Amino acid sequence: MISRSEMPIEPSEISAGKDLSIVISLFNEKESLAELVRWIRKVVSGKYDYEIIMIDDGSTDGSWETIQQLSGEGDVRAISFRRNYGKSAALYCGFKAAEGRVVITMDADLQDSPEEIPELYRMITEDGHDIVSGWKQHRKDNRLTKNIPSKIFNGVARWITGIRLHDMNCGLKAYRNDVVKSIEVYGEMHRFIPYLAKNAGFTDITEKPVHHQKRKYGKSKFGMSRFVNGFLDLLSIWFLCTFGKNPMHFFGLTGILMFLTGGVIALWLIISKVINQINGMEFRPVTEQPLFYLALVAVLLGSMLFLTGFTCELISRNSAGRNRYNIKGRI
Ligand code: UDP
Ligand code: MG
Repeated sequence: MISRSEMPIEPSEISAGKDLSIVISLFNEKESLAELVRWIRKVVSGKYDYEIIMIDDGSTDGSWETIQQLSGEGDVRAISFRRNYGKSAALYCGFKAAEGRVVITMDADLQDSPEEIPELYRMITEDGHDIVSGWKQHRKDNRLTKNIPSKIFNGVARWITGIRLHDMNCGLKAYRNDVVKSIEVYGEMHRFIPYLAKNAGFTDITEKPVHHQKRKYGKSKFGMSRFVNGFLDLLSIWFLCTFGKNPMHFFGLTGILMFLTGGVIALWLIISKVINQINGMEFRPVTEQPLFYLALVAVLLGSMLFLTGFTCELISRNSAGRNRYNIKGRI
């Protein structure tokens, strides 16, 4: 039997019973929740058929009790994780639950302004973008620990992903419903959702400068490690998107090139030594030539790379997503 995750996504399967879903992932943000929900309601109620989906990512400060109180008016749906799984996991569950035609994500710490929602909504529904990503043009965070490293990170991300966004990791973003249903955010991949979307075939990605406030309560949940981890994640996601479906194209090619280069050099050293020896000319034993050992290393590394490519190919052939295609339409 085919599991659901293996089946292609059809547009007709996408549930969009509401105008707008606002997905908020939170971890120990008790103080800001009531203010945030009040502010969102002020902006959207009466204008849209909306839902607020809160994902409590294993908070221990009583955030869940506050969410339970807030859910009284019927516009708040919520999921509570038994432990802290990370923002990507929270967004994944929020995206699965979202029923809105437009899905907007925002942070729970009041740094993102709900006043941006109407324009983000309009840019998706009227201008027809797949994703509108927020751009914290005037960022209200520490310059040294966040703003400057973030600029470098975004520069590298632009270069690797080819997506011209100033602020790839902004928590405030708007999506068409089928975008969030077509991608699978996991690990720490929430930083690269536009790239995941681009690889799922959604290329109309734009940005909008958004207001950014200083954190009012609590403290940031991500330390400086975010930049190191973010960079490593960027490399793996780039590799997965480029060679994930055909790893042999990378490992096989580099492996064969190394094997051949090493093999040719070693053979050349051996043959020239034998020829010189036969002709009675001066010769150096191959084992006394450092180049010979380098050539042997290249041959060994080349075979290992080739075998790695072959193993990866076998794994990818058996993966559940090997025949998962994002289908736009059918007649
Ligand atoms: N968050 C989460 N799970 C985590 C860490 C953070 O859901 O493990 C939430 C957090 O509560 C906030 C959002 O992700 O709503 C962004 O986190 P934070 O404000 O700490 O990030 P920063 O603004 O410093 O980039
Ligand atoms: Mg924040």
